[in-house]
Amino acid sequence: MQILYDAADALFESQNVSDDALLSVISSDDEKFREYLFEKARSRAVENFGNKIYTRGLIEFTNYCKNDCYYCGIRRSNKNALRYRLTKDEILECCAEGYELGFRTFVLQGGEDPFYTDELICEIVREIRSGFPDCAITLSIGEKPRESYAAYREAGADRYLLRHETINPKHYGRLHPPELSLENRVRCLRDLKDLGFQVGCGFMVGSPYQTLENIVEDLRFIKDFSPHMIGIGPFIPHTDTPFASERAGSLELTLVLIAVIRLMNPRALIPATTALGTINPRGRELGVLAGANVVMPNLSPVAVRKKYSLYDNKICTGEEAAECRGCLARRMESIGYELSVSRGDYPC
Ligand code: SAH
Repeated sequence: MQILYDAADALFESQNVSDDALLSVISSDDEKFREYLFEKARSRAVENFGNKIYTRGLIEFTNYCKNDCYYCGIRRSNKNALRYRLTKDEILECCAEGYELGFRTFVLQGGEDPFYTDELICEIVREIRSGFPDCAITLSIGEKPRESYAAYREAGADRYLLRHETINPKHYGRLHPPELSLENRVRCLRDLKDLGFQVGCGFMVGSPYQTLENIVEDLRFIKDFSPHMIGIGPFIPHTDTPFASERAGSLELTLVLIAVIRLMNPRALIPATTALGTINPRGRELGVLAGANVVMPNLSPVAVRKKYSLYDNKICTGEEAAECRGCLARRMESIGYELSVSRGDYPC
């Protein structure tokens, strides 16, 4: 038991411990120890960000996807998915509404949809950039050639979210069809960083075939890659995917990993994700109490919310943006935190 507490202290002091120690920490189901770990992680987050929680307005602008990831509800083989695309004007309206509500970061996320050519993405980015000059623009639209990323950056995009999903090539192969490779995923992340984006990687907790050893590899990769943002959330099965009858990831392990990731990457921007709020009604609050410092309320038009269904029972699909923001503000206040009205860049 003392080994665990020593590991938590070492993580706090030196942002690193051995793989064996990491494995012990993430294997532990001792509640008292977990509380200790959460408290350490939370104090590290408060040290860097105070009691402010950054908000990102999430705009899910297309659920068409040319990929076929086994876990994802909007994979191309899912014939039951009701597909939609937002027009440039609809996206700009979401931004305008978000701006009024105090958002200073917009995240454009979608499937890999060839309808949005690089030209169109750049046009959308340029218009958001000129209409909302004090806002950060984040893209999360998957794997592209380096030249595309360079064009998005040139157009004014600041950040890019691309979870690596798992850093173990074998495991990667069990989550994705053969045409997708871990090698290309990592190539994308390196290109994005090189081009000056603030970059986010991350993975699902409890994805099928994931072992605790795999997770240690992920933690090591993240530490080495040193991203600005780190998104993790539980895997949740979607009925219309090959993983329909797999088990969801656990709340406890997700929280432990948020804490460990915070301790290893003190200044990283770490969201308490919607998936975490989906597996537990207080998931996002618990995420913040374990060291997360970002929430990503939905700005997508209510008419399309349910259709961006990556996993079953996703929360916040019925509320207007203002309601979502109000609800999150109250949730954060209930645990002594406040939503921040700033771009929320990676601290220099
Ligand atoms: N097409 C973009 C955006 C993907 S959706 C891209 O490739 O980056 C964003 C994230 O949702 C994915 O990276 C994945 O980690 C997560 N996700 C997908 N399906 C999920 C599921 N069934 N349960 C939990 N998270 C899921």
